[in-house]
Amino acid sequence: MKSLTFKELHLSRNIEKAIENMGFEEPTPIQSQSIPYIMEGRDVIGQAQTGTGKTAAFGIPALEMVNSKSKKTQVLVLCPTRELANQVAEELNKLGKYMGTKILPVYGGQNIQRQIKVLKKGVQIVIGTPGRILDHIERRTLNLNNVEMVVLDEADEMLDMGFREDIESILSSVPEERQTILFSATMPKPIMKLTKKYQQNPQHVKTIHKVVTVPNMEQSYFEMKHHMKPDVLCRMIDIYDVKSSLVFCNTKKMVDELVTTLKNRGYLADGLHGDMKQNQREKVMSSFRNGEIETLVATDVAARGIDVENIEVVFNFDTPQDEESYVHRIGRTGRAGRQGVAFTFVTAKEAYKIKNIQKYTRTNIKCKKIPTRSDAEEIKANMIATKVKETIDAGHLGKYVHWVEQMVDEDCTSIDIAAGLVKIMLAEGR
Ligand code: AMP
Repeated sequence: MKSLTFKELHLSRNIEKAIENMGFEEPTPIQSQSIPYIMEGRDVIGQAQTGTGKTAAFGIPALEMVNSKSKKTQVLVLCPTRELANQVAEELNKLGKYMGTKILPVYGGQNIQRQIKVLKKGVQIVIGTPGRILDHIERRTLNLNNVEMVVLDEADEMLDMGFREDIESILSSVPEERQTILFSATMPKPIMKLTKKYQQNPQHVKTIHKVVTVPNMEQSYFEMKHHMKPDVLCRMIDIYDVKSSLVFCNTKKMVDELVTTLKNRGYLADGLHGDMKQNQREKVMSSFRNGEIETLVATDVAARGIDVENIEVVFNFDTPQDEESYVHRIGRTGRAGRQGVAFTFVTAKEAYKIKNIQKYTRTNIKCKKIPTRSDAEEIKANMIATKVKETIDAGHLGKYVHWVEQMVDEDCTSIDIAAGLVKIMLAEGR
């Protein structure tokens, strides 16, 4: 199935504006496949994990459907954990920024009276853990008579946590005439049973993993907190003395932020994303080609048009959403006759993505320790060693051998000479 653009999804201007603010450039595969069905009013089974953009996949149609003039609860989202309920609420609040939709996460452990107070004022989208939602139903502090859409998010997790009975009670409290959306990473039998019982003629949507092969190259990943990424990037550019790199971000917003940070720190950096006009893009590209820009920050979409050779390193500043993007991204590195290098920055939230990438590309991406400034000398010495070996392999060393022979005497071995040369090169910052 062809992937759609946000334009082709025919969203309202308010949602489009919010998506632009969030910096999303194009729908993720699960969004492109499920949004049209959900907007049509169909029941949908979405097979997708966290990180695939599944929240917006149901959140966008949910927001489009809500009548913000009515204060009644129209959408109910069930989540396994408080963290997920909060995350979903946060994402929906961002997407609904220009719609004035009232959204509330409710979960156990939080003062119920406070939740009741807000619910009384009228909440159109309620996102909650099953136990707490049931509690509100029993107290009659949550009226679900007007619910038109129910979303079961991470349904497999909810069943694993023993929420099946709670979910069934909740589903029997919502009108039968409703749309039921279920997202789950896996589709074991109990999930299929649930969909049979509570969904009508559901459309099954899943992202297909293509087998993709990775070019032979040096690939590593580094685990870190998100806020550390710019520092680590700068450090690696310095340590490896990178003169030409492509840095990939998942959103336009991140491209802009990172370019500003890099420029402020004195790096020769610029960005490319889909919002830029053709002549702006060409200007940036030609500066990159002629070396005025050393670090080019880009989104996947923008990078599709890039035609540059001699990129030393590809940095995945954000771990890519799927294995296909990973392969496209890293395939851009490699210099004439030399292996390319790809470094991927991974936060705890992105950890499963790198696992999936390894699984579907059948490659081993090594987890490495983030180099410190004090590792710099050793790394540079290794780089010198590689260069020396490449030079020896290329041959034609006759006159150099002759000069070194002249330097060797009783006090000075060839090893001393090599050590001296390495010292000079390191001091000169090569
Ligand atoms: P989720 O799978 O819903 O947990 O989303 C994972 C992350 O991807 C969240 O930070 C989203 O904001 C982000 N995201 C969702 N849709 C897109 C998109 N179309 N382009 C870029 N990032 C996205």
